Amino acid sequence: MSAINIDNVVKNYGSLRVLHGLDLDIKEGEFVSLLGPSGCGKSTLLYCVAGLEEINGGRILFDDRDIAGLNSRERNVALVFQDYALYPHMTVRDNIAFPLRRQKLDKETVKGQVTWASETLGLSELLDRMPSDLSGGQRQRVAVGRAIVRNPTALLMDEPLSNLDAALRVHMRTEIKRLSRELGLTVLFVTHDQEEAMVMSDRIAVLSNGHLQQFGEPMEIYRNPANRFVAEFIGSPKMNMITSADQKGVLLGLRPHDLTPSTQQDDQDAFELTGELALIEPAGPQFFLDVIVNGEMIKATTDDIGSFTTGSEIKLSVPAYRVYRFDAGTGDALSGTSISAASRKNTKP
Ligand code: ADP
Ligand code: MG
Repeated sequence: MSAINIDNVVKNYGSLRVLHGLDLDIKEGEFVSLLGPSGCGKSTLLYCVAGLEEINGGRILFDDRDIAGLNSRERNVALVFQDYALYPHMTVRDNIAFPLRRQKLDKETVKGQVTWASETLGLSELLDRMPSDLSGGQRQRVAVGRAIVRNPTALLMDEPLSNLDAALRVHMRTEIKRLSRELGLTVLFVTHDQEEAMVMSDRIAVLSNGHLQQFGEPMEIYRNPANRFVAEFIGSPKMNMITSADQKGVLLGLRPHDLTPSTQQDDQDAFELTGELALIEPAGPQFFLDVIVNGEMIKATTDDIGSFTTGSEIKLSVPAYRVYRFDAGTGDALSGTSISAASRKNTKP
């Protein structure tokens, strides 16, 4: 496994600039997600690392070695795509063995590696099956087996779980994360699903329009978003944004999970809002509340719906230290999350 250093990488498709000088330092054995909306350049960056696309500026280093001169095979990275691209006419065994046979390794080595990969992935019982006789999750595992069997420098995955149904997707997250830990894999994992990135990654690189917005550990990004884009992209339901009543040009960000019905009278350390409860959405462990405050819909959560009914007045509160502040013009996070005493007091509906 290698460390991967992405240094000021630029990528153009014709006159369209898709990557605008990206920097990322990925440590050996680290699981890094590239996260962002469709079209932001995630796959393009992955293909540049894999050697499937050439870069137009900057450098990519594997363990401090510039890989510009190496073709895709020489880089020895393993790629797993959304459609597993298994060979339909080959058994599971032959699919997994394929990259080794192409390297013309001897039979014993191939057999040993296939046994190791299939045991690691729980595929030992399925080696003689054809891909058409496997479930979606099993096919995904074969694709991972084929990827790791030749000890690649890195495992690059492009939305590998998107085609699976919801329950299997959650299961495979755990499996892939466990495997990458066990084997010490350097993983670059593309996803547009913020929850997937949160639960799987050591660090997340959030991209927008080919620009890196933030690179950090999941909870750091969740709790200290660098800007409004990251704040709204990470977390579900997404962060509420309201205009600060007493600071011009400032937006206040309130996470629904931090914003709950208030029972206390005039809590000095809380930021409070009063509005009309418009909708109650049962969401399993919690309820989502849609509350109209000053004509705007604000989302809050509660564990216990108590005696709340739609149409009634409701007071919401969030600890003052959990109020995020952003420059309304640039979207940049403003340092410190503390807010003035005046702005803690609410605005009636
Ligand atoms: P993502 O994987 O984040 O959805 P992509 O990396 O696939 O985004 O695409 C980034 C941008 O580059 C998009 O605007 C897309 O239309 C454009 N793009 C991707 N591949 C090509 C290509 N081969 N030729 C021209 N434009 C492309
Ligand atoms: Mg893509």
